[in-house]
Amino acid sequence: MAPEVWSTTSQGGAGSARGGAYHAGTREPETSSGRFTMASHGQTPPRAHLLILTAMAALQVRCRAQDTPAPPQRIAVVGAGIGGSAVAHFLQQQFGPQVQIDVYEKGSIGGRMATVTVNNLQYESGSSSIHSLNLHMQDFVKLLGLKHRREITGKSAIFNGEQLVLEETDWYLLNLFRLWWHYGISFLRLQMWVEEVMEKFMRIYKYQAYGYAFSTVDELLRSLGGEHFVNMTQRSVSESLLELGVSQRFIDDVIAALLRTSYGQPVSIPSFAGAILLAGAQGNRWAVEGGNKLVCSGLLKQTKANVIQAEVMEVVLQGTEGKVLYQVKHQVDDEQASDFYDIVIIATPLHKEQRNIAFRNFEPPIGEDLGSYQHTVSSVVHGYLNSSYFGFPDPKLFPFASILATDNPSLFFNSLDNICPVNVSASFRRKQPQEAAVWKVLSQGSLEKQHLKTLFRSYYSVQVTSWPAYPEYSSAKALTPIILHDNLFYLSSIEWAATSVEMSAVAAKNVALLAYNRWFQHQDKIDQKDLMQKVKTEL
Ligand SMILES: Cc1cc2nc3c(=O)[nH]c(=O)nc-3n(C[C@H](O)[C@H](O)[C@H](O)COP(=O)(O)OP(=O)(O)OC[C@H]3O[C@@H](n4cnc5c(N)ncnc54)[C@H](O)[C@@H]3O)c2cc1C
Repeated sequence: MAPEVWSTTSQGGAGSARGGAYHAGTREPETSSGRFTMASHGQTPPRAHLLILTAMAALQVRCRAQDTPAPPQRIAVVGAGIGGSAVAHFLQQQFGPQVQIDVYEKGSIGGRMATVTVNNLQYESGSSSIHSLNLHMQDFVKLLGLKHRREITGKSAIFNGEQLVLEETDWYLLNLFRLWWHYGISFLRLQMWVEEVMEKFMRIYKYQAYGYAFSTVDELLRSLGGEHFVNMTQRSVSESLLELGVSQRFIDDVIAALLRTSYGQPVSIPSFAGAILLAGAQGNRWAVEGGNKLVCSGLLKQTKANVIQAEVMEVVLQGTEGKVLYQVKHQVDDEQASDFYDIVIIATPLHKEQRNIAFRNFEPPIGEDLGSYQHTVSSVVHGYLNSSYFGFPDPKLFPFASILATDNPSLFFNSLDNICPVNVSASFRRKQPQEAAVWKVLSQGSLEKQHLKTLFRSYYSVQVTSWPAYPEYSSAKALTPIILHDNLFYLSSIEWAATSVEMSAVAAKNVALLAYNRWFQHQDKIDQKDLMQKVKTEL
């Protein structure tokens, strides 16, 4: 079944199909307008006229064939998370199956989408949920024949270190009433703000379906939401929300907890990143049956990308026989090797703490001005919750599956979740707090023994992963570039606007289109203004 699905995509997919349509669509009017001008002069007899036209057309076709650069032969992608896997897939859609795509991965396929095993069952240790409006992820799951995982619902509460400041109940109306009682209509204002941002953000799918690409993150945001979106990367979530009339108390109790849980950062992070995250926190969320990382391995298999288990150490600009090539130097164990590529995509964050990729011979130098990444530690604990810590001496009465921490610096954790395995049968039920359950604790630093004793009465196992999780938004003044050199692209720069699985997938499609449009000099498909209007007239 897999090859069948792929052949449909490669022939009928947006990339290759649009590539063909694009040539015809843009060149044809030039030729016909030339024809029209000559005929309107009316000085050449019709038959001779026809012959001249035919000869000219043939000449134009020959010139065009000579002008069109040969397609790239080899492309390297560094990183096999969702960004790297998706870009391999989109690159093949654009350039066709003849281009060789090598994907370098130093760790596991999936990157920040990963699982750990507890008692022979796998649990998500990194990215756990996807929003229903994440259309690239939805497409991938369909394309790969994967399934949505059944959602096991559970209630949440917010903890400020001393008490629960907000508790979800089983009743939707009661939840609304509580929100209104505590915070007035702040939650409605928040919802309207997030929906407005999402509505504009969703334009990206249309632009990308028409083959449009952006050379900077600024341009991408500007095309979606004008200067307002660009400004949202420079002002804080709290500033934006206060301006909308959201109360300070709602920001302190609810928004701070949501941002701490997800980004491990305060409400001073940029409002665009905040809005994307808050959109992800509400609405329908889903995950992939068997684990979210299956999307990455599936896309790489489908693309028939050549996955090389190695760490890329250097990218060196080389000029060979008048042609610019990128030499990718990599290392497996102690062995070093290198290969030459026409195009290179960096699909892993470059940041101060991880200067593992050096860029040589580039002028101006690359990677001098990097921001920092925020570390988040995920501890997957199999044990008995100490519900007394949250004010419930009897664990049977503890009704929550999730606890979110407010922005209290003395709290040692960001969130605590009673998690379900990546494969859930029809009869599966979430473990009760009086039973030994699997809990995912997110924190800024590693949990010490004392912390574990505070949260758990006893435990069987703890599995710790320390993630360079998100950009530390206060550490960079401006958004980082996408184009590092002519055909060297930095996919993960999108994270400085906002981070999520879907943001990486959007960046992957943008980089694939950008690489294609630049390679074949389709300038009219890069950084175009008034795209909403353009797309409407192209319909
Ligand atoms: C704990 C946690 C929870 C999260 N929860 C969610 C969530 O619920 N929903 C959501 O949408 N997002 C979530 N995210 C964010 C999401 O996981 C990321 O935005 C997304 O997975 C990034 O994918 P990526 O491919 O761009 O980068 P990565 O997944 O980081 O992939 C980069 C890959 O490059 C490899 N690499 C790095 N350097 C080299 C080198 N020199 N040579 C070769 N390979 C290299 C790495 O090993 C890695 O596999 C979460 C993140 C974390 C850490």
